[in-house]
Amino acid sequence: MNTMTESKKTVTLNYINGEWVASDSEQTAVSKNPAKIGEDVGYYQMSSSNDFNQAAVSARKAQKAWGKLAGSVRGDYLLKAAAILEERIEDVATAMTQEMGKTFAEAKGETARGVAILRYYAGEGMRAIGDVIPSSDSDALMFTTRVPLGVVGVITPWNFPVAIPLWKMAPALIYGNAVVVKPASDTAITCSKVINCLHDAGIPAGVVNMVTGSGAKIGMEMVNHPEIDAITFTGSNTVGKQLAHAAVDRGIKYQLEMGGKNPVIVANDADLDLAADATISGGLKSTGQKCTATSRVIVHKDVYEEFKEKLLAKMKTITVGDGFETGTWMGPCASAGQLETVLSYIEKGKQEGAKLLYGGNQVLKDQGYYVEPTVFENATPSMTIAREEIFGPVLVLLKVDTMEEALEMANDSEYGLSASIFTTNIGNMLSFINEMDAGLVRINAESAGVELQAPFGGMKQSSSHSREQGRAAIEFFTSIKTVFVK
Ligand code: NAP
Repeated sequence: MNTMTESKKTVTLNYINGEWVASDSEQTAVSKNPAKIGEDVGYYQMSSSNDFNQAAVSARKAQKAWGKLAGSVRGDYLLKAAAILEERIEDVATAMTQEMGKTFAEAKGETARGVAILRYYAGEGMRAIGDVIPSSDSDALMFTTRVPLGVVGVITPWNFPVAIPLWKMAPALIYGNAVVVKPASDTAITCSKVINCLHDAGIPAGVVNMVTGSGAKIGMEMVNHPEIDAITFTGSNTVGKQLAHAAVDRGIKYQLEMGGKNPVIVANDADLDLAADATISGGLKSTGQKCTATSRVIVHKDVYEEFKEKLLAKMKTITVGDGFETGTWMGPCASAGQLETVLSYIEKGKQEGAKLLYGGNQVLKDQGYYVEPTVFENATPSMTIAREEIFGPVLVLLKVDTMEEALEMANDSEYGLSASIFTTNIGNMLSFINEMDAGLVRINAESAGVELQAPFGGMKQSSSHSREQGRAAIEFFTSIKTVFVK
């Protein structure tokens, strides 16, 4: 059982060395439902250094035997975990909607994605892990193979509490690593349910561990712990940079996936209905809390007014509410802090002189952390709302005279995660593919679409320049060994 009951409270436990255990700190924290002020989802452990140490040591002990198993055998555990997670989609998605507010339909979709990720990486256990390279000595055999890194520390955010832990853990495990996971506090309960699927699949004790609690404490202990050989992190740039410094000091491998300020370009030959639908879906689904969410909407002057009217008409149909309610299209911000951040950016936008076209207000105040879908116009590229990641349902319209200007503006950002263009012109498409500085470039599709079998990651400040997901994950989670046999 991943929980215990204490004074009528349901308390989620840590998972260390194959067992669900309470922290020796004897301290817990509460996870709150952002859709219903005052509703507690449950409690999780505020772990101590000792808890983390036990997890790291047990991972180290387990990794040797795990790494020696055939890839297909490791894959069988992932397949079993996938089947169990599939049976539990409703339960896991319920926890996700309760903890961070995304609609139940989106939460189920994400959990189904988690199942697919496990299945995809199960197959990786049987695929090639090296190349034969002709040696200059004709009597020798030279080839590469790949070996696990050892124990990988996994630190994840709250916005995809099933998919992100799995798209890090599944490749880590299939390539023979053991893991210690520190999930975001806001979604620790959801993550524990995912870990429980691996536990119920019979994964050997110590191969997977989860320790919840303060990021500043457990996260920093993780990167500095001698038993941790690598860190994979998704979250904010501020924390990512701290982890990178510590990882460099220790000389361990690290991978960071961080923020975005993703543009969409609407060309004067675009299908404007398609562009408006994709801008809304890419910018406002999950309440804009996706790293790949559309934020800057760069529109050619010839179609600006028509596009704006279409966008506004569609935005006005969006229903904000509890993610469990039928008809809700957009849930609350994930926490009180997140709502405050979004509202402060909206205020900043107004102060700096952008025109609030629609939305901008907190709504259903007595119920939860809700904000209206919001769009600004008359913004300039130097305004805060056009430069900083808001991580909320706020779009900024920017008008341009030419496609060259559009591309230049799209690239005028410290981030480079995802970018879209809507156009029917092949020349525009090619320029965008070649010149857009983003890890994901998407033509006539929203900025937020990601497929698990393809590499994922950003350029510039959006990432540490490695890639996650698909076959690309092998690059981070293994080391190459060149073998020469004479
Ligand atoms: P965050 O505050 O950086 O937290 C991410 C994780 O780091 C959480 O588990 C957090 O734990 C932990 N943490 C906090 N302080 C830490 C520290 N000093 N040392 C080590 N770990 C620490 O980010 P967030 O607010 O959860 O997530 C939003 C950000 O993630 C956005 O910038 C978004 O763009 C980015 N994101 C990027 C991607 C991508 O793939 N590029 C995907 C999703 C999200 P606690 O929860 O306990 O604080």
